[in-house]
Amino acid sequence: MGSTVSPIEPSETMYTLQRGAINAGLIFFSLAILATLVFGRFVCGWGCHIVALQDFCAWLLKKVGLTPKPFRSRLLVYVPLVAALYMFVVPTVLRALTKPPEEPLIPAFTNHLVTENFWETFPTVAVAIPFLFICGFMTVYFLGQKGFCTYACPYGGFFGIADKFAPGKIRVTDACNQCGHCTATCTSNVLVHAEVKQFGMVVDPGCMKCMDCISVCPNDALYFGFGKPAITVPKASVKKNYSLTWPEEIVGAVVFLASFLAVWDVYQLVPMLMALGCAAVTTFLALKTWKLLRAKEMSFYRFNLKSSGKLRIAGVIFAAFAIVWTGLNAHSGWVRYHEYAGSRAFAQLQIPDELALAQSNPDQWLSPIDREHIAAGKNHLQAASRYGLFANSDALPKFAWFTYLSGDAGGSVPLLEKTAAHQHGQARALSLYYRGTILNRLGRYDEARTSLDEALTERPDLILAREEKGEALWQLGHREEALSVWNEAVRQNSGLVLANNQLAGGLAALGKTGQASVFEKRADQSTPDNPFYHWMIGLRLQGLGMNALAEKHFQRAIQLDPSFQQRRK
Ligand code: SF4
Ligand code: SF4
Repeated sequence: MGSTVSPIEPSETMYTLQRGAINAGLIFFSLAILATLVFGRFVCGWGCHIVALQDFCAWLLKKVGLTPKPFRSRLLVYVPLVAALYMFVVPTVLRALTKPPEEPLIPAFTNHLVTENFWETFPTVAVAIPFLFICGFMTVYFLGQKGFCTYACPYGGFFGIADKFAPGKIRVTDACNQCGHCTATCTSNVLVHAEVKQFGMVVDPGCMKCMDCISVCPNDALYFGFGKPAITVPKASVKKNYSLTWPEEIVGAVVFLASFLAVWDVYQLVPMLMALGCAAVTTFLALKTWKLLRAKEMSFYRFNLKSSGKLRIAGVIFAAFAIVWTGLNAHSGWVRYHEYAGSRAFAQLQIPDELALAQSNPDQWLSPIDREHIAAGKNHLQAASRYGLFANSDALPKFAWFTYLSGDAGGSVPLLEKTAAHQHGQARALSLYYRGTILNRLGRYDEARTSLDEALTERPDLILAREEKGEALWQLGHREEALSVWNEAVRQNSGLVLANNQLAGGLAALGKTGQASVFEKRADQSTPDNPFYHWMIGLRLQGLGMNALAEKHFQRAIQLDPSFQQRRK
């Protein structure tokens, strides 16, 4: 709480690359990679909380007689590297290709070593609990003790590459008699005895330098020492027993990708690392269930799933779990598709918000393309909202906006209320502002004032909410209070066109014409000479009963574009 060091978390490096923010995460990640270039991949084994969690889970399983077995895939081991490139390299490459030539590749550096919002980039507790359960416990149970590291962790992708160049390695002396204790102990799926025999050292980048193999070797044959890095040894690697055939590898890769895309960011809740963990578990379950259907005999841990072609109780439980898990994945994919399609339609809307909100029904301002996007977007987001398992605080306001634009202003109000209940800070303030604004257009001024007050409590600098609050107060007959709210708005920003006009109209209505003309002049200086803008201001003033001033703007709009005359009818 309060002011503290920014999170010492590698993912924070993304903000350095995208925004130029120098933070503790960047310093930690850079030092960790530099240290890995010398000592090998040791940070994972000695400093990662997820490894600690996986070790704890494996320890618990062993306590009940279950020893996690590694799931070995040739293709999925590349997931961490692909994820690392996606997180840390792809955005910079895209920026390099699309940015204007005069802009720097990385924005100017700013100091974010200390933060007042430590939890800003962390998931909520409600997300963290399933995250730790899936990425810690489930990956260990199904994929082995380092299941998450092997098939999901993007940081491991970078540490694995750096490890290849490191002179620091687990090395062997002549005392080794190939007993295999080291391999049996290694929880990172490294074939220690075979690698030290072939190369004189452990070359597998999955080795986390935990030193367990050194401590169990009965001949004291292993040690940590410096010498040639792994990159110098011939490419031929030690033969491994893989869990999958090549066709299964390909099907597995497709299942992994589909599951990842289905789950990532669904309901705006599932972070990328959790989605990778889910996808790894889904892939294992899908392939294992497929094998279960075809095999005559199969077991998992000490449980007999199938024997003599007959499913045993454990097999039925396994298959049922796999079906429920995969079904949930498929459902997430369906929801994610609708969320994505709805967001795309939202991004293509052309109607400006101010114009849409000038009257309770924006129908006359909608282009045919807007109408198409509104109908499609509303359908998609309605489906996601109706059949989704959780509320999506990003999709809900878009659904509310589509609902409003489709002519159902009343229907958008409870949706915005529901949205605000799931949001915080700026996002919540905006939802409450939109709700208050729509309530104003519907003539529900008391409710509007309450909503706008809540928006201003969240963000006192939200001037748009101040303009609207003044409107609610004016309509409720609290005219002096309305003028003071508009005054506060122009005190914060003297160039506000609407607030200056509202003050001019309000003061004129109270007979204070001298003061009114000061604000009117100030408004005119900042008003863009755009017929839509003048018309919008005219509508807002007309709604407040400030007809003379409204008429001036209507006339100016018609002067700029005579077709606006039609809109008077
Ligand atoms: S435990 Fe020691 S002796 Fe046995 S294979 Fe490993 S390095 Fe060789
Ligand atoms: S047991 Fe040995 S080979 Fe396995 S991760 Fe630990 S140090 Fe590396």
